[in-house]
Amino acid sequence: MSLLAGKKVVVMGVANKRSIAWGCAKALSDQGAEVIYTYQNDRMAKQLEKLVGTEAFKVECDVASDESIEECFAKIGNYAGEIHGVVHAVAYANKEDLSGSVVDISREGYALAQDISSYSLLAVTRYAKNILAQNSGIVTMSYLGSQRAVPNYNMMGIAKAALEAAVRYLAAELSPEGIRVNGISAGAIKTLAVTGVKDYQKLIQLSEERTPDNVGVTIEEVGNTCAFLISPASSGIIGEVIFVDKGVHLS
Ligand code: NAD
Repeated sequence: MSLLAGKKVVVMGVANKRSIAWGCAKALSDQGAEVIYTYQNDRMAKQLEKLVGTEAFKVECDVASDESIEECFAKIGNYAGEIHGVVHAVAYANKEDLSGSVVDISREGYALAQDISSYSLLAVTRYAKNILAQNSGIVTMSYLGSQRAVPNYNMMGIAKAALEAAVRYLAAELSPEGIRVNGISAGAIKTLAVTGVKDYQKLIQLSEERTPDNVGVTIEEVGNTCAFLISPASSGIIGEVIFVDKGVHLS
């Protein structure tokens, strides 16, 4: 049975084949969805084209700009009419704010990380909701560092805490309109973004050691949960952040 046959889902944040967004895109497509991709800039567009070819519908979207987000969803609306889901898998913080002491984080660094990693979910939802069908889903990506003081995760942990709160507020507001908003708290995975965190190898190693079989969670496992959360099969789940980390958060 395909959970998403005939549905169109927007995936934001594929940088390369290691991206969590790529795991989501594969799982959504395995469940029968047509995936529409957004990319940050021309450099990312080239990477994306290598992965998905020229056929897939792709639109530029820099989440630092409201105009870019508005234009992006207008283009998607013209192409698709209705969409049935959005996967928000984007985040950014300055490298210096992913090491050292949180007391040294600058006002600018704080604002930048919150803007790209948390505020963007509000802005994306604002423009996406005009074209989201009844019974659709929005899913974002968080990490355990939102709840615990994980060494060096620093600024991103603070931004993820705000992101998880945004999930709950958006979910409460939009569920009456038939849009469910949820998050996934993924285990540490070696992607481009994670390499910004100082000593990220330790972060990944610690995560692997705490799984039952010493194998870290994969982008495919995160993707499968994402496809479920986008689909109507998860209709009872609203405003939740689900751990997909093979139990790492337990210890
Ligand atoms: P990634 O580097 O593959 O993806 C990050 C994406 O964010 C890239 O595609 C990048 O282009 C995009 N991005 C950054 N700034 C942007 C902007 N201004 N406009 C549009 N896009 C922008 O890394 P990833 O690990 O797959 O990250 C995806 C999400 O998963 C992030 O929210 C990240 O915090 C989260 N996450 C990652 C891990 C992990 O261990 N890798 C764990 C939990 C959660």
